[in-house]
Amino acid sequence: MRATRVTDKTQHMARCLWSLGLALLFGLLLPVLVSAHQVIQHALQVVLQPDHHTLQVIDRITLPETLPPSNAVPQYFALHAGFSPLPVTAGVQLVRQPTDTLPMPGGSDVSTGRARLSLERYAVVLPAGTRTFALQYQGAIQHAALQQGPQDAWSIPERSGLLAPEGVYLSGATYWYPHFHDEMVTFTVDVQVPLTWEVVSQGERTRHERVNDATYVRWESASVQEDIYLVGGPLTEYRQPAGPVQAMVFLRTPDTPLAQKYLDATAQYLGLYNALLGPYPYAKFALVENSWESGYGMPSFTLLGSKVIRLPFIVSSSYPHEILHNWWGNGVFVDVQQGNWCEGLTAYLADHLLQEQRGGAVTYRRATLQRYTDYVSTHSDIPLTAFRARHSAATAAIGYGKSLMFFHMLRQQVGDEAFLRALRAFYRDNLFQRANFNALQRAFGSVTEEDLSEVFQQWVTRPGAPELRISATIVQPEGQDYRLSAVLDQVQPGPAYRLQIPMAVSLQGQEHPWQTTVTMAEKRLEFSLRLPAQPWRVDVDPEFDVFRRLHREEIPPALTQLFGADKVLFLLPAAAAAELKQGYRQLAQAWSQAASQALEIRWDQEIEVLPTDRAVWLFGWENHFLPEVTTAVTSYGVGLTPEGVRLEGTSLTRAQHAVVLTARHPHNPQQTLAWVATQNVAALPGLGRKLPHYSTFSFLGFAGDEPINVVKGQWPVLGSPMSVLLAPAADNSSQKATAQLAPRRPLISLP
Ligand SMILES: [Zn+2]
Repeated sequence: MRATRVTDKTQHMARCLWSLGLALLFGLLLPVLVSAHQVIQHALQVVLQPDHHTLQVIDRITLPETLPPSNAVPQYFALHAGFSPLPVTAGVQLVRQPTDTLPMPGGSDVSTGRARLSLERYAVVLPAGTRTFALQYQGAIQHAALQQGPQDAWSIPERSGLLAPEGVYLSGATYWYPHFHDEMVTFTVDVQVPLTWEVVSQGERTRHERVNDATYVRWESASVQEDIYLVGGPLTEYRQPAGPVQAMVFLRTPDTPLAQKYLDATAQYLGLYNALLGPYPYAKFALVENSWESGYGMPSFTLLGSKVIRLPFIVSSSYPHEILHNWWGNGVFVDVQQGNWCEGLTAYLADHLLQEQRGGAVTYRRATLQRYTDYVSTHSDIPLTAFRARHSAATAAIGYGKSLMFFHMLRQQVGDEAFLRALRAFYRDNLFQRANFNALQRAFGSVTEEDLSEVFQQWVTRPGAPELRISATIVQPEGQDYRLSAVLDQVQPGPAYRLQIPMAVSLQGQEHPWQTTVTMAEKRLEFSLRLPAQPWRVDVDPEFDVFRRLHREEIPPALTQLFGADKVLFLLPAAAAAELKQGYRQLAQAWSQAASQALEIRWDQEIEVLPTDRAVWLFGWENHFLPEVTTAVTSYGVGLTPEGVRLEGTSLTRAQHAVVLTARHPHNPQQTLAWVATQNVAALPGLGRKLPHYSTFSFLGFAGDEPINVVKGQWPVLGSPMSVLLAPAADNSSQKATAQLAPRRPLISLP
């Protein structure tokens, strides 16, 4: 369910467009306008009437002291359309601006992600000496949820706002309070909601009362924020202290054991990240169950959908990721104009770190590089400075994958201790401010006293990745020792990268390989290593520590190669039962709609031989080309019969399971085949939704209608060109797919 891991960062883009336009139109003429670095204070009193989709607001606004109070200079703000604001403070003049002067693309619309939201703009003139004034406004919030393709694993429906009996969701992108510029805010919000409701915002709750037929709640954020959120609905609250922080859970259906699981996890992960990075910056952390499926991380709370919350692995995967966003993204904010660094850093210190603690870091990094290799082509590549938010498998492979590998390489270069000191300094010095990659570079530079500009330049501002080749390996005796000589080439187009490349050399009679790192600054490096025993195997970057484009042979056949291919053919089984034929056809069509590939859907009987110039999906036990799959998977020791297949000890039967197998194309190893088969038509829509989430796997088995995954795995990598066999191993272990390296310590252990 990696698609749930998206933060709400995309919404800032809308405001950036808006403020850029305003700055162009007015900023140069009127330098006393509120600027992005200034802080505006809001004291909001809000009544929500969910049954009518309406809200009533009094907003007492205090402008920054740095603005010279003057009745000659108007300030401009934007507000959700139809709210009809009126000044409550005597002497304040408010003038609605004509729509055609709006310096926004598309007239009065601002694009918020995929949404279109109607806005109105006002000029406000204050009496001399006044910085604080109040506005009263009311109106309806009714925006449809945005549609997504049925199989689009990469986009989450976004909303610009919701106010309905099932819940409320108001964010900066709703423009439910005045936005002057791209300013920062502090706020208090007093909310009156129906008796059965709870509402959550950032910061600390300082009032929670039920009086007569309403609930009154007050949230305060004295720390500077980018947005003001208000979320909630008919919810049951659970809480328990986690040190000085209040852990809270709000569920739509009461479920004490589920709430307790998240309350305990909150304390556990806050403890982990306090120790790793410095103190958590807010008074509470709340899990709020959303009325639609989402995976948003906001400052001091996360908004997750009902299904996501109940998936058993979320509490130890997406949940720590969302908690960590309170340091990265929602503590130190992202200056998104210069690249979103927070997803890569959060993925590295949550997803990757948890895998490190469980011994899965190498597999995780290989899958990360696999996604980049399979999904990102030269025309879809962008530098990290151009990444804003995930919109596709390719942007995710860069903004999350390449970015986390960049932080991993920084750590390898400076060492764990300096890496953590630099991150702590970056956090301390930039908390509640917008920061960019330059600020990260300064933090690492001052801790290490090294000039890291070249490292940042090549990974952050340059698109692409290096590709490595090893050749000309020679072993010669040298006295009692041996000398291994070889040539490394960077074969990517464009200039060389400066790389530190780990090497592992397996020596006769030694349990673990001898390890070193070679530095490569040109496109070709001739190097030699003096070794204490006879080497029999050398592995280049065996633990995937370098961000690089992998060789096809380093990657096992997997669904990434089907979902990421430029050209794809679906072959449906003409001999299958009518309803199965229909189900397979719908599955192929659903994937086709979500993809930007050149796709073709055919019946198996229409073609004689499998084409070799494209990835091929074969559907059905009845498929005419099933023997090609049967032959192809024998190289992995798998026996596929007409009754079923056994994978990692799990028997999958034709009658009871859905089976997914991938294999190299028998006539072109650069291409991949995938075979999907079931006798259960009801399982096909679920497979359509689920398989994009299992894309790095080589084989999968599912049971039931949902269907539920029962086995998954990757084929071993055989014959990687980054592994060179120099001689037969004395203990006959040369057949192993990977060198058996000594284990490494994680960055920090779970307390
Ligand atoms: Zn994230």
